[in-house]
Amino acid sequence: MDDFLYLDGILYAEDVALPEIAQAVGTPFYVYSSATFVRHLKQFEDALAGMPHLVCYAMKANSNLAVVKLLGDLGAGMDVVSGGEYLRAKAAGVPGERIVFSGVGKTREEMRLVISGGIRQINVESEPELRLLHQVAVSMDISVPVTVRVNPDVDAKTHEKIATGKSENKFGIPISRAREVYRLAADLPGVEVVGIDVHIGSQLTDLEPYRLAYQKVRELTNELRMDGHDIRRLDLGGGLGIPYERSNVRPPQPGDFGAVIRETVGDLGCEIEIEPGRFIAGNAGLLVSRVIFRKQGDGRTFLILDAAMNDLIRPAMYDACHEIVPVVEPAPGVDRIPVDIVGPVCESGDTFARQRTMPPLADGDLVAFRSAGAYGAVMASEYNSRPLIPEILVNGHQFAVIRPRPTFDEMLNRDRLPVWMGS
Ligand SMILES: *Cc1c(COP(=O)(O)O)cnc(C)c1O
Repeated sequence: MDDFLYLDGILYAEDVALPEIAQAVGTPFYVYSSATFVRHLKQFEDALAGMPHLVCYAMKANSNLAVVKLLGDLGAGMDVVSGGEYLRAKAAGVPGERIVFSGVGKTREEMRLVISGGIRQINVESEPELRLLHQVAVSMDISVPVTVRVNPDVDAKTHEKIATGKSENKFGIPISRAREVYRLAADLPGVEVVGIDVHIGSQLTDLEPYRLAYQKVRELTNELRMDGHDIRRLDLGGGLGIPYERSNVRPPQPGDFGAVIRETVGDLGCEIEIEPGRFIAGNAGLLVSRVIFRKQGDGRTFLILDAAMNDLIRPAMYDACHEIVPVVEPAPGVDRIPVDIVGPVCESGDTFARQRTMPPLADGDLVAFRSAGAYGAVMASEYNSRPLIPEILVNGHQFAVIRPRPTFDEMLNRDRLPVWMGS
């Protein structure tokens, strides 16, 4: 099911026609569907039904305050990877007892911040982190619930930049050394071991790596329990992938993912946490852009858009492929031709698609990038002094600007001239 459908030849976000939003806020912009976020969260809730669980939305996928509040108000927990994300979660009204803190490089200041504000658990990724956390907690006269993130050394079979569960990745503690680290943790009164954490990567389209990783977590749970640790919570990470291109292959759904969890660790009597980001947010958003020029090169046609790599970095960074569709539905049977779809930034890497077969598009036409709700706006920059583009949330017939486009004055006013340059 999709909340971005053509109606009378025009692409809609729920019940709002995209040209209406373009008229109101200008292009380019991100637009999100509330209904899609909600439906995806519910799919994970249903997938874990019957097991004590908490779905912790991985905020880094899309951390707009309105998005976090939408999910948080429905009871979702949050997986945060920085003090900034923690503050966003709190600002959206999510209580500390539903927030987990992940990441390889938590600072002392971030530890203090989340301990004083309240935290469900900290997922510790190294021994130095464990020792520092203990120190900070003791100085605050508290014992912090922790899991240790283990690196199970399984191949997630995803893009190298988003694989995190192989021994060569910087994440977690090698599972072979886990017992030793738990022994250390048990001796540190500033931390209270509550469980195990694992996250093997992002955009996984095969469930086997999960199965392998969770089987290892199962064995480790039994070993740690024999060692006397109270393992009562398993944080099984996120990473479930989404289809970026239309295909006939049915990708794994939350229900299938839930079945793997049930089969591998379902009988251990542990509370289950999962941290989906992309699956919840990815297909809940579009990037809408306008064709500035259609340019005829030497044997190639270029569509130059007003969106660029600074707005959506995924194609440049991960060789990602986004489906790009015209906002006005092409007539059936029109001639389609291969075009290169590019942005205005002065880098050849600013290319969204090469030799993509597209229906005819002319200067001024609107196009929409599908699956742009995750790792889109959050990864944007102002490279080339291009303002961050606005984010719009649709809810049925309503839409709201949930982050406005800054003015050039606002951008300039963030810079300061040193006194020695005069005024
Ligand atoms: C990025 C991340 C996630 C979410 O990954 P998705 O692919 O967006 O589901 C979950 N947990 C941790 C620790 C992460 O770093």
